[in-house]
Amino acid sequence: MTYSTDTGRVVVIGTGLAGTRLARRLGSAAVLIGEEAHAPYNRVLLAEVLAGSYGADVIALPRHTGTHLRTRAVRVDRAERVVRCEDGSDVPYDTLVLATGSNPVLPPLRGLFAPGAAELPGGVHAFRTMDDCLALSRAVAPGVRAVVVGGGLLGVSAARALALRGAQVVLTQQSERLMERQLDPRSSHLVHEHLTALGVEVHTQCRVRGVGVADGAVRRVELADGYVLGTDLTVLACGVRPRTGLAAAAGLDVREGIVVDDELRTSDPRVRAIGDCAQHAGRVYGLATPAVEQADALAENLLSGRLRPYAGTRTLTRLTLPHEAGPLDLAAFGEPEALPGDDVVQLADATRGTYRKVVVRGDRLVGGVLVGELGTVGALARAWEADDPLPDDGAPLLHLLTHDGGL
Ligand SMILES: Cc1cc2nc3c(=O)[nH]c(=O)nc-3n(C[C@H](O)[C@H](O)[C@H](O)COP(=O)(O)OP(=O)(O)OC[C@H]3O[C@@H](n4cnc5c(N)ncnc54)[C@H](O)[C@@H]3O)c2cc1C
Repeated sequence: MTYSTDTGRVVVIGTGLAGTRLARRLGSAAVLIGEEAHAPYNRVLLAEVLAGSYGADVIALPRHTGTHLRTRAVRVDRAERVVRCEDGSDVPYDTLVLATGSNPVLPPLRGLFAPGAAELPGGVHAFRTMDDCLALSRAVAPGVRAVVVGGGLLGVSAARALALRGAQVVLTQQSERLMERQLDPRSSHLVHEHLTALGVEVHTQCRVRGVGVADGAVRRVELADGYVLGTDLTVLACGVRPRTGLAAAAGLDVREGIVVDDELRTSDPRVRAIGDCAQHAGRVYGLATPAVEQADALAENLLSGRLRPYAGTRTLTRLTLPHEAGPLDLAAFGEPEALPGDDVVQLADATRGTYRKVVVRGDRLVGGVLVGELGTVGALARAWEADDPLPDDGAPLLHLLTHDGGL
């Protein structure tokens, strides 16, 4: 393996999708530092573990052959070029890569934290790590009352997984519909219906105001309209925030995330950042595909010494919600809601539960959503990623939804 001369010893902090992928591509010369006790795993599949569809070992990521230190990095000393770790070890680097991911957002709910307490009370969990997933898995059982706070991708996945384990689930969503960042109203409604069919009680436009704790555990969730839900198990799925504390303390440029350029360099050229913690071209993604693409771009860059600029990622959201009556598959990309002047093509089949829609602006495909019938998703995603003008061959726009080879 040939490293470019100025790359030297590469130390990667974070054993999530981005850090593990990069370390594996760099091979045995890379040192990986990760605080989680488990072997690196694919976080995207945690809901399947919680649902009981997969064992925890099934979602392990391919192993990295180099050194893996299981400890937390507590300080980056840029002057000395050393990472100081919680277990007392000091790890020198020539190139440091921050792949520290995200932290869950804990909403400011009345009663959630006792004065001076740093820990969540019993019975309430975030849903970010394998430890969160295993703790939820131990607590759930048929008939257990569960409240999921937050109706984005994470909340929907958690609610569905808990319902499949037999819990009586209430999902509360502050805005007017589920997964509103990715879906248009109609596809949101199909997800809502799907959860309802699984027995999940979905409340939209419903703000949680506080929680009630008894004997050290959350037993009540209080809504803004005064209604109170009894609960045995509460999941906080209220979004994530890039984990930037190490970078900020080291004096690197941090805004929402750790600011990087097209070579994924931070404000210190010896320190790079990839994945959920990084902010590239003003954007923090918080999604798996950009984390993997950034790891690949940086690996090529470090291995060959040649510059392959990272130009950003166009992200497609895919979700499969299995159900005994047939899974609900969906994919969404770009802007699935039209602006005035856009062309919209949509096909819906209520009997088969399918819904397909694309939005075209001028001669470009700008977004779409497919539910239940994903045959054209590959061709549509390629056309959207390429951002090329759509073929001007007189074919009606409907072909976008019915022809998988036409683009
Ligand atoms: C349940 C769930 C479902 C998801 N579903 C989807 C989905 O369907 N599609 C999608 O695109 N994305 C999804 N995501 C988001 C996706 O998992 C993340 O975007 C992706 O994992 C980001 O990878 P990362 O390596 O940047 O960060 P992470 O996977 O968060 O990994 C960061 C790692 O760094 C470690 N770390 C942080 N600081 C330190 C330190 N100081 N010392 C040592 N170790 C440290 C952390 O413990 C963690 O192991 C989901 C996330 C969750 C939780």
